[in-house]
Amino acid sequence: MFPYSTQSISNSDIKNVIKSLKSKFLTQGPIVEKFENSVAKFVNAKYSVATNSATSALHVACLSLGLGKGDILWTANNSFVSSATCALFCGANVDFVDIDFQNYNISISHLKKKLVEAKRKNKLPKIIVPINFSGTAYDQSELYKLKKKYKFFILEDSSHSLGSRYKDIKVGSCKYSDISVFSFHAVKTITTGEGGMATTNDKHLFQRMKLLRSHGISRDKKYLKKKNFGFWYYEKKLLGFNYRMTEMSAALGLSQMTRINKFISKRRRLAFRYNNLLDAKYFILPNKKDISNSTMHLYIIRMKKIFNLKKYNQIFKLLRKNKVGVNLHYLPISSLLNQSKDSFKKKLPNSYLYARSSFSIPLYYDLSFKDQSKIAKKINMIFKKNL
Ligand SMILES: *Cc1c(COP(=O)(O)O)cnc(C)c1O
Repeated sequence: MFPYSTQSISNSDIKNVIKSLKSKFLTQGPIVEKFENSVAKFVNAKYSVATNSATSALHVACLSLGLGKGDILWTANNSFVSSATCALFCGANVDFVDIDFQNYNISISHLKKKLVEAKRKNKLPKIIVPINFSGTAYDQSELYKLKKKYKFFILEDSSHSLGSRYKDIKVGSCKYSDISVFSFHAVKTITTGEGGMATTNDKHLFQRMKLLRSHGISRDKKYLKKKNFGFWYYEKKLLGFNYRMTEMSAALGLSQMTRINKFISKRRRLAFRYNNLLDAKYFILPNKKDISNSTMHLYIIRMKKIFNLKKYNQIFKLLRKNKVGVNLHYLPISSLLNQSKDSFKKKLPNSYLYARSSFSIPLYYDLSFKDQSKIAKKINMIFKKNL
């Protein structure tokens, strides 16, 4: 089976991880800091905080923005559950915005309508979590204008997008957001096994996230109430967690960072090739301009005709039977959380239609052009026969 995505591990990655195992630290230490600096420099953000997953980075990001009981977080309805569950972790509520059908990102037009209504009802969100989905940036400057008008925070879920561009900036630079979060899960642009990172330009948010990552405990004299005890002294400033990254993970991440541009350019080349190989009669394919700015974390084909669940299932199964390891990214989050499903289906039609008509097809660094051509041929054949 050709998977929709997978990691690429080199001999130097393996050497670097072994080296970290022989070093003085295994838990968070100097390599974690080096990795943080490397990512911050790469995306052009002032500060970065490495964690053991993007999910935990989203959690500490929400807490550092002050999200709590009685607050509301909004996210786009097409994402991994963590973009929404981070609100529930903090005791806040979550609501959803539909996606647009251009690039499957948060729909700014739906968002505008929803904000007008929320303002009237005095129920504006404290945080909005847009996703830089599949590697393509959402309309960052438009969302930023709305942030200024309605005074919410922007916490970007950039799990797919380490290395993506929005106009002339990198995703994660936080020019138009408060915090941006990356994932280093095995299928993402680079991997640390499990891991995540939050970037920000706000020193206060940076310090809070760092505290929350490690039990809320500080030994830094600058922040202690009682200054003149010995080195053994520390204070618990916040209710924190153990969300630290290990040195082994950071060593892998740092090693992968040396190849990130290669990873991305191969993914883009594969994407352009698919655009030529696949029969555009049947599908909506990623557009060229998006590809050239994207990490191409996912290559998504969307059927032009929308069928019932049975048909979607049938095609999904056939593709898998033919070793094309397709996947759906994602089921509408609103359908997964414990909420009344039908009301969302009507309110967020695009996200539900998307889930009935889209497939992520194999795209990863080590995929050969020859295998890719085989995969494309299979896909064309299956759609030709079954539509
Ligand atoms: C992978 C992913 C996450 C979760 O990342 P973890 O590092 O596995 O916690 C969150 N959001 C999106 C959009 C993702 O793709």
